[in-house]
Amino acid sequence: MRDKFNREINYARISVTDRCNLRCRYCMPECGVKKISHDDILTLEEILRVSKLFSRLGIKKIRITGGEPLLRRNLPSLIRDLKKISGVEQVNLTTNGVLLPKLAPELISAGLDGINLSLDTLDEKIFADLTRRRLFSQVLESFQALLNQNFKNLKINCVPLREINENELLKLATLAKSNSIKVRFIELMPIGCAWESGLRGIPTAEIFSTLEKNFGEFLPIYDKNPLKGPAKYFKLPNFIGEIGFIDAIEHKFCGNCNRIRLTAEGFLKTCLSFDFGVDIKNLLRSGANDNEILEKIRETIYNKPREHFFNGAAKFRDSRLMNQVGG
Ligand code: SAM
Ligand code: SF4
Repeated sequence: MRDKFNREINYARISVTDRCNLRCRYCMPECGVKKISHDDILTLEEILRVSKLFSRLGIKKIRITGGEPLLRRNLPSLIRDLKKISGVEQVNLTTNGVLLPKLAPELISAGLDGINLSLDTLDEKIFADLTRRRLFSQVLESFQALLNQNFKNLKINCVPLREINENELLKLATLAKSNSIKVRFIELMPIGCAWESGLRGIPTAEIFSTLEKNFGEFLPIYDKNPLKGPAKYFKLPNFIGEIGFIDAIEHKFCGNCNRIRLTAEGFLKTCLSFDFGVDIKNLLRSGANDNEILEKIRETIYNKPREHFFNGAAKFRDSRLMNQVGG
């Protein structure tokens, strides 16, 4: 369906848990994290019901996220069920990769279409410092395993941070040289912890010019696929893969935003930056029928805000942490 600014909304990000086995500095506090109680998290059946309603409104692409989605039990069965929904063309996953070595075969045989693996560094010490956990070898093992089996749609997500992984960016970009993968650099967004942590992102323009100096001229890739996300992709000389940039702050892409978000608690959020939306769980659990829920979703999507307000006053920002929203 289209919202009131005539944007086609076809992409839902669904968070299946707020829990995580890492504590990335830009996403979650080290301790004192308030967990959503199990009873307040949508069941897999509820997620499936909402996804079917989403698809009736034109959602064609679903991304499973979290927290760390692989901590959610029976995820492969959810993916298998989502893949059966008529109209849903893609089901993808964003993960930190820690549990992938164990779960990848089942997820892939369930029909998963793509994996975004978050990897901010190739250095074990920086990884431990940034994620506050010593689990780098598991993540590296996941990455190698996906490469070895030529998994068809693999993207690396990296959040560039001044003085933290600044010297890792060339190494990460080089992964796309001999592998058919996309390495994406995502600007740090002022959400939850990132705002208070004192971390500073690195502007996309700066990374772009560093990479160009080292690898040669970037050729933009024009992709007219209506399901594509906000990343802009480029080819580099002698690279098999691609480099992508998501510059949410420097260059707002709100005019082309095609996405909605469902939090693990069942709140439908229509913009990352605001608290606007509707409590779907409440509707599901108070006996509303499909048509009633569908109408609420329709109305909420229609009223999706025109653009984010990350640069504005804190009082207008959603207070949820990134692990509660799903990125
Ligand atoms: N745990 C999974 C993971 O890390 O891939 C999925 C959830 S995580 C919230 C989804 C994505 O959001 C990750 O790629 C992460 O790097 C990114 N992210 C988290 N906090 C961010 C922030 N403040 N700014 C930009 N990206 C952020
Ligand atoms: Fe966990 Fe992902 Fe957040 Fe890191 S970015 S703390 S892996 S949810």
